[in-house]
Amino acid sequence: MSALPSLDITRARLLILGAVQGVGFRPTVFKLANDLGLAGWVNNSPQGVTVEIEGTRTSADEFILRLDTAKPPRSSIRSVETAWLAPAGYRGFAIRESETTGPKTTLVMPDIATCPECLTEILDSAGRRYLYPFTNCTHCGPRFTIIDSLPYDRMGTSMRVFEMCPHCRHEYENPSDRRFHAQPIACPDCGPQLQLRDRNADVLCSRHDALLTAAHAIRCGKFVAVKGIGGFHLMADARNQAAVTALRERKHREEKPLAIMAPSLNSIRCECEVSAIEERLLLSPEAPILLLRRRAGSCIAPAVAPGNPALGMMLPSNPLHHLLMRELGFPVVATSANLSGEPICIDNEDCQHRMGGIADLFLVHNRRIVRHVDDSLVRVTLGREMILRRARGYAPLPIHLAQPTRPILATGAHLKNTVALASGHSAFISQHIGDLETVAALDAFERVISDFQRLYEIRPEVVAMDTHPDYLSSQSAQRIAAENRCPAIPVQHHIAHVLSCMAENEIDGPALGVAWDGTGYGLDGTIWGGEFFNIGAGGNIDRYAHFRTFPLPGGEIAIREPRRSALGLLTEVFGKDAYSLDVPPINAFTDAELARLRVMLDHSINSPRTSSAGRLFDVVAALTGIRQRTSFEGQAAMDLESAASDLQSCPPYPFTFADGVIDWAPMIRAIVTEVRQDIAPALISTRFHRTLARIITDVARHSGHTTIVLSGGCFQNERLLSITVTQLRAAGLQPVWHRHVPTNDGGIALGQIAACLRNPNPA
Ligand code: ZN
Ligand code: ZN
Ligand code: FE
Repeated sequence: MSALPSLDITRARLLILGAVQGVGFRPTVFKLANDLGLAGWVNNSPQGVTVEIEGTRTSADEFILRLDTAKPPRSSIRSVETAWLAPAGYRGFAIRESETTGPKTTLVMPDIATCPECLTEILDSAGRRYLYPFTNCTHCGPRFTIIDSLPYDRMGTSMRVFEMCPHCRHEYENPSDRRFHAQPIACPDCGPQLQLRDRNADVLCSRHDALLTAAHAIRCGKFVAVKGIGGFHLMADARNQAAVTALRERKHREEKPLAIMAPSLNSIRCECEVSAIEERLLLSPEAPILLLRRRAGSCIAPAVAPGNPALGMMLPSNPLHHLLMRELGFPVVATSANLSGEPICIDNEDCQHRMGGIADLFLVHNRRIVRHVDDSLVRVTLGREMILRRARGYAPLPIHLAQPTRPILATGAHLKNTVALASGHSAFISQHIGDLETVAALDAFERVISDFQRLYEIRPEVVAMDTHPDYLSSQSAQRIAAENRCPAIPVQHHIAHVLSCMAENEIDGPALGVAWDGTGYGLDGTIWGGEFFNIGAGGNIDRYAHFRTFPLPGGEIAIREPRRSALGLLTEVFGKDAYSLDVPPINAFTDAELARLRVMLDHSINSPRTSSAGRLFDVVAALTGIRQRTSFEGQAAMDLESAASDLQSCPPYPFTFADGVIDWAPMIRAIVTEVRQDIAPALISTRFHRTLARIITDVARHSGHTTIVLSGGCFQNERLLSITVTQLRAAGLQPVWHRHVPTNDGGIALGQIAACLRNPNPA
């Protein structure tokens, strides 16, 4: 570089793509340009950020060089296209009006937890935002949940109805202010306000009084519906066993664990073990619910997570929650305000209507939530995070696709549904929608699909769906495909699991794909769920191995009654002797029930066969007497995992593997013998987990593949995942598993997109 700057004036136009809107990117550009004495302008466009700089070539080069390090913390640059142009004679540097035309490819930012500066401000009694629950800045605050349309500007958000006061406008227009172009900027004089309402929607009080009165009610054991960032929470004192039990009754939620919001990291440490990485995640801008190991002597009521060694804990992530939790000073249950199987409430009136029989009071405000976003759920396994529910803080950031694609819409799975929209190099995965088993959930599913298409202005050219012909999501997919005159491509559920994991890890194959979960529609008339796939380097995928199948008497009902899975499997191993075995699942039936089930099994009536690994967990949970009935999906497997111990010297049970079929019969015979010898469930569970890891390792070795892809709901089981990864590594193989995309059915939509990419010209 020359010591003397060139006096030749030049102009460069930069098109910056990535997560560059709603994070203070333009002020950074403004400051950098001013520091370097460059003239020109910056604006937001639907594609990203456009910058023109004019000045010496040295300064322009310096600008481009420094942009990456100077960019704001929550932004990320995916690409910068530079064009060198003749000087235009700009004077000074300006932030221009946003452009609203052209294809919409910019990244919509997720909602970001309150930053330290804003937190300090709301606690500063001398400041004008003291105790103001809607404080935010360019580094924090709502984004995805307030955006109606792109580009990200106040007029395109639900903040447009609040006219800025002169104070706020000054901050908004001052490039050196932390709130320069912070679209949701607000203060007590001009922004949204709180109200506390009773069950009749009568306003009891407003502003800070509303918050204080709500806190008092929670302290007294009442339930308050609190409007947060992406929807309402139901809050109750988490230490109060009677209150939590009553909340469960009102919500018809029997045993599924409830999430907890704690006032501080120290408060979480009193209840749970927190590692360094877990601490980082709790305090991160995403601020998810983290599954943490509960400490002995925790003050959390047992009814919060009955029999579960883990607690789902989060910290406040917006000023309203911060202020409320400071006022309370103790942990509260903060569960989504919804009826079982329905999406979370986002609208004041709707919440009043749907939660009227559950909440005693409603702490609401007048900032509209544009779309629902639940709290995200994360667990740390093997020293890294696994996102189990991808929503607030993460959605809708895309997964990068190695190959560019034409527009694809994927409609996801039936349970834990998410949808995805892919275009170019990005796959945008929606926020968690839920189980599509109620009309309300299906409405939410359709709403998210049209919302995503409208937001990104993408019309699908392919619609991917599950192969199950009866799923309502598949029917919607076919209708959307017909509307767009494009093909609807069915993708097998477990293949989608494996491809989802490969897509997020950016691997192509060849690989062995292991997809273990509860159930999915198979391609041979059975229910799959314990599958191994040969993934070729090209598009070819074939089923390499699977568990021996067994009948599920009663079909769907068996999912809620592990004893039915046990009975079905025992008849395979012991024939008619199964009905008289002295083991807990058989003893859990009356003679009349057994007689009825026997007719079903003998004549194969409503007894579909399954190779599911998830159901195998149910069988062992039932055999060990741990659980015969469940009240939520995966409960028996969770209990079985909790029962296991860390004994290292437990040998696996015997099994056989021949002709692509893994036969569990030798293991089941051994377990039945042990159960009758009163061997402790802890020991049986430990040996069972080790057996499963051994099965994967043996099949992996046999397959000749080096890369082993682990996906499906079973790998939410920390013990199974860690033993399997350890054993595969010890065998010199390379295990790959999920991190940012759920290993459960929340990841299926991405896998469906990946399937369409592998097979771009379906018949
Ligand atoms: Zn802030
Ligand atoms: Zn104001
Ligand atoms: Fe699945």
